[in-house]
Amino acid sequence: AAKRQGRNAYARFDPGMYASLVNEAQLRAEMETALAADQFVVHYQPVVDLPTQRLTGVEALVRWQHPSRGLLGPQHFIDTAEDSGLIVPLGRWVLRESLQQLARWDRPGLKVNVNLSARQFQDAALVTDVRDALAESGVEPACLTLEITESMLLQDIDVAADTLHALRRLGVRLAIDDFGTGYSSLNYLKRLPVDIIKIDRAFVTEVATDPEDKALVDAVVGLSQALRMQTVAEGIETDDQWTELRRLGCDFGQGYLFGRPVGPAAIELLLSEPAAAGPAR
Ligand code: C2E
Ligand code: MG
Ligand code: MG
Ligand code: MG
Repeated sequence: AAKRQGRNAYARFDPGMYASLVNEAQLRAEMETALAADQFVVHYQPVVDLPTQRLTGVEALVRWQHPSRGLLGPQHFIDTAEDSGLIVPLGRWVLRESLQQLARWDRPGLKVNVNLSARQFQDAALVTDVRDALAESGVEPACLTLEITESMLLQDIDVAADTLHALRRLGVRLAIDDFGTGYSSLNYLKRLPVDIIKIDRAFVTEVATDPEDKALVDAVVGLSQALRMQTVAEGIETDDQWTELRRLGCDFGQGYLFGRPVGPAAIELLLSEPAAAGPAR
């Protein structure tokens, strides 16, 4: 869209852009219908204790069961949802659905991570929504982790700090997602009540082979430990990456090596395996 071209760029009319605007509008309208028609579903990806590979929780990841296009990942619709504001009701739905699912699994100590979007984070009703969703599901607040990204903290650090403190007072935990890919500031890490740092896949992919990525992950783990935060490595796909991340002292891991995002029934199955007897406390 034109606004992404920067402030001073003239948006010249071209047919390609018209087509994309029409598609945008169409997608937007379709998504509203989809939300009302219950076409969104939540998949869950295992989060494991890195040394033992035990399941400690899951990350909720939204998908759209599109009537003609099949199962769509967030890359097909999250930006449009964000631009149109539909992300606020959609995000609220994901939160409630994930907490209700966690309650249905009924596994004491099992945790769920839910992603927040920028619009949701700025929404005045966020703290009330989270409190209501927790109360409605009966889930212990400490079993919910809300994931935010560095860019959400850039706008107004004082407002962001107020929101994070209010969420923290509910008893939920807070994670910085995709850490290292945005504008990381040591200042906000010190000032904000963050519990968990999620190290982006960009640093994990070559962690076993690239000395610089290894050094960066090592530094982030050291920083987290000094600030009494925990670390989660994202996108672990190989044994070598797993071994190296363990050696570097990363606490938790997520990635295709341990499990892809799957529907609630598949998680249920995982939970029923004796080896996964329950999350490590
Ligand atoms: P994210 O929160 O960083 O989620 C991790 C993404 O990495 C997921 O993609 C997951 O499927 C993928 N992934 C996990 N392990 C691996 C791996 O080993 N290799 C590779 N190549 N990829 C892996 P997904 O589900 O497509 O989600 C993409 C992004 O969409 C998420 O990134 C998050 O930013 C956003 N998103 C997903 N669900 C929601 C939601 O409910 N609300 C909001 N606001 N954003 C969401
Ligand atoms: Mg995430
Ligand atoms: Mg991430
Ligand atoms: Mg990511």
